[in-house]
Amino acid sequence: MKIAVFSTHQYDQDYFSEFNTGHELTYFILPLNEQTAALTVGYDAICIFVNDVVNKAVLDLLHTNGVKLIVLRCAGFNNVDVQAADDLGMPVLRVPAYSPEAVAEHAMALILTLNRKTHKAYNRVREGNFSLEKLMGFNLHNRKVAVIGTGNIGKAFCHILKGFGCKISAYDTYPDNTLATQGVTYGTLEETLADADIISLHCPLMDTTRHLINKQTLKLLKKGAMLINTSRGGLINTVDVIEALKDCQLGYLGLDVYEQEGKLFFHDYSEDVIPDELITRLISFPNVLITSHQGFFTKEAMEQIATITFGNIDAFVKGQELVNRVAV
Ligand code: NAD
Repeated sequence: MKIAVFSTHQYDQDYFSEFNTGHELTYFILPLNEQTAALTVGYDAICIFVNDVVNKAVLDLLHTNGVKLIVLRCAGFNNVDVQAADDLGMPVLRVPAYSPEAVAEHAMALILTLNRKTHKAYNRVREGNFSLEKLMGFNLHNRKVAVIGTGNIGKAFCHILKGFGCKISAYDTYPDNTLATQGVTYGTLEETLADADIISLHCPLMDTTRHLINKQTLKLLKKGAMLINTSRGGLINTVDVIEALKDCQLGYLGLDVYEQEGKLFFHDYSEDVIPDELITRLISFPNVLITSHQGFFTKEAMEQIATITFGNIDAFVKGQELVNRVAV
């Protein structure tokens, strides 16, 4: 197949070229959106990532250009109008699970860094400052951690937490029986949020979960709790979270995703004015740690993403069952 691969960086090109099963790939650095959809003339399929925008208008353009297949090289599919794609007869395939440990381990990295302030200690020591003032953390052992969404990543995260001796509570619309037998206590969203020292979000972004963390739910948290989001930025109302940080209701915030990340993440603004007032406000807090959607970014995950993506494409070409098709 002739495949247009959007939003690529060198690392995407390296892994996709290595694991290519014989397709003709064109790598675009540009994201896919209404302005760039014209580039897809003559391609059979498009391959996209988390911040490409595939709404109805883009899908109509892709269909007119002859594109027959939408392939996501990620798990989340909130950026694709799946119903509109289905109406046009274009299957949407994704990588439902690739090394969930990669994201779960990154969530734990955010917790450990925020808590023990290793990023600050690193800079201090490099400047010859060996003082411990303001570096005090807390033991994770026996702390209560709330896991919102116990699918592939949430489950891997629970296993990591057990190793640290944390008490784990969880909320999921479909609780996991195995986790429940391993000591994870399921409750309502409100109970789970209210009882925890640390809350980590691992549910998908959907209409029902958009701004799950908002002015009202933030009030439920223990004062000074830590909030971690490695799932999707839209789960959090950023303005409300900034207010909660200002009045110390929220004690720590670790983000790998951000609602307005589309125009920022994966780009270098180090010599430019950052075009987003909310993220600059967030960066100004000493108890906020932001990484730019790198939870998935391990060698193992990149290999699995490439392998599963080509498996999806090959299944389509051979007319086989599309096991990783996003259901409408
Ligand atoms: P998954 O589908 O295996 O698990 C999602 C879980 O959320 C399921 O158990 C589901 O029942 C639950 N859920 C659905 N609606 C819910 C609700 N309203 N409240 C609570 N739980 C709900 O997905 P996963 O592989 O574990 O991935 C989780 C999310 O992580 C993805 O949706 C994606 O957005 C994000 N992700 C981020 C990165 C990254 O690099 N930061 C990488 C991969 C995935």
